[in-house]
Amino acid sequence: MNTGLHLYNTLSRKKELFEPLNAPNVGMYVCGPTVYSDVHLGNCRTFISFDLIFRYLKYSGYKVRYVRNITDAGHLEGDRDEGDDKFAKRAKLEQLEPMEIVQKYTLGFHDVLRMFNTLPPSIEPTATGHITEQIEMIKEIIANGYAYVVNGTVYFDVEKYSAAHNYTILTNRNLEDMLANTRELGGQDDKHGRLDFALWIEAKPETIMRWPSPWGVGFPGWHIECSAMSAKYLGDEFDIHGGGMDLAATHHTNEIAQSEACNHKQPAKYWMHTNMLTVNGTRMSKSAGNGFLPGELFTGDHPLLDRGYSPMTVKFFMLQAHYRSTLDFSNEALDASEKGFRRLMNAVSLLEKLTPSTDSDFEIEPLALACVKAMNDDFNSPVVIAELFEASRIINTVFDGKGKISAPELDKLKKLMNNFVFDIFGLKDEETSNVELNAVLDMVIDLRKTAKENKDYATSDKIRLGLQSMGIQLKDSKEGTTWSKA
Ligand code: AMP
Ligand code: ZN
Repeated sequence: MNTGLHLYNTLSRKKELFEPLNAPNVGMYVCGPTVYSDVHLGNCRTFISFDLIFRYLKYSGYKVRYVRNITDAGHLEGDRDEGDDKFAKRAKLEQLEPMEIVQKYTLGFHDVLRMFNTLPPSIEPTATGHITEQIEMIKEIIANGYAYVVNGTVYFDVEKYSAAHNYTILTNRNLEDMLANTRELGGQDDKHGRLDFALWIEAKPETIMRWPSPWGVGFPGWHIECSAMSAKYLGDEFDIHGGGMDLAATHHTNEIAQSEACNHKQPAKYWMHTNMLTVNGTRMSKSAGNGFLPGELFTGDHPLLDRGYSPMTVKFFMLQAHYRSTLDFSNEALDASEKGFRRLMNAVSLLEKLTPSTDSDFEIEPLALACVKAMNDDFNSPVVIAELFEASRIINTVFDGKGKISAPELDKLKKLMNNFVFDIFGLKDEETSNVELNAVLDMVIDLRKTAKENKDYATSDKIRLGLQSMGIQLKDSKEGTTWSKA
């Protein structure tokens, strides 16, 4: 087991040695999507980042239970418990049942994450499937004196909680400033304090998604589902809780308060937050209207796009940035990532064609150690990529006959590429994994070889130039002919 992993903990605001509560078991909870519409590329960045973390923890020898929820109820348009229910509104718009909306966008979410070759979580619980657990938790919070009921709605009492706890422990904000920046309560407000938030909301006559509760018919507030589901599947205290940075100030702050008020325990030992994907410096979001759908990116069918990019190019683009740095979307950056990704994949495809020598000009161990060191330093994927480019340079040098590699070193090189490119980064070669294309190209390369042997250079040139015009580059060497995407 790898015991040298350090990760940045939002709670302590520093990098800490990762010491799971119950090694080798690790519990990780990540806030999943709100499935009332398609996920945009920004959402994908967060889930791809946690996929990297999940994969590396597994590679490091941990037995990870990864819980990622689906929010399929209880999300109002306003962050302060007001506005329409997002699911009901969308259902009306699309003339569907709210649960049809949930099904449609859950399936779409899974399709997109599969295209990005992310691993499914161990458990994917839904808010609507855990209403009982949420009600039980709210009952306990009321019994402990941290919530109150007004007209069928239950509010969390932030002021009371703050008297004995640090409500802003996660973000270190000043409570007075927060109060000053929050709208004053008006005459028709039921809540007692400005920062109080709803645990349970009374249904209006038109509310479609509604459940009975001790406080009347209603639906859960936005935050309680994650507290209830993380406790159910990972226990009152678990290792990692994650999500996008935008969730820290409200959703996660309230999750901590709920869990503490119910179980008297800080739920997660390590809180991890991914930074935002931005477009021209503005956070990509559904409401800002700059949220590319992954499908639009793949086809290029969007006003801001010059052309389409493959899912692996987009994933590689994301891995080239550290998960805690912002990442700005641009066509130029994606063009560069596409080139880099092809360079890496072409090198990987040459690996099997290398012939080992008795001695070696290269030592692979330092490269492998550098990759582990970078990942152990808070999952520093951009540094790993730089090392993988160095490995690619070695592969090309040997393939071109300008350097030698021994059998044991070649073995290490193969292992390094396999571990980091495929197992940890979850990349795959979209071109060479196309079985039909591979078979056709093998045949065409063979025909060209025969033509050359017969000194029929007109045909061999026609094949080479024909493939070139389709973007496929042939490369001859003493090891034979290989192809790559230009
Ligand atoms: P939502 O479906 O809006 O609840 O978001 C799902 C996840 O995506 C949450 O963890 C958000 O923090 C994250 N997220 C939303 N916008 C972005 C963005 N522009 N970049 C990265 N992550 C984001
Ligand atoms: Zn959550």
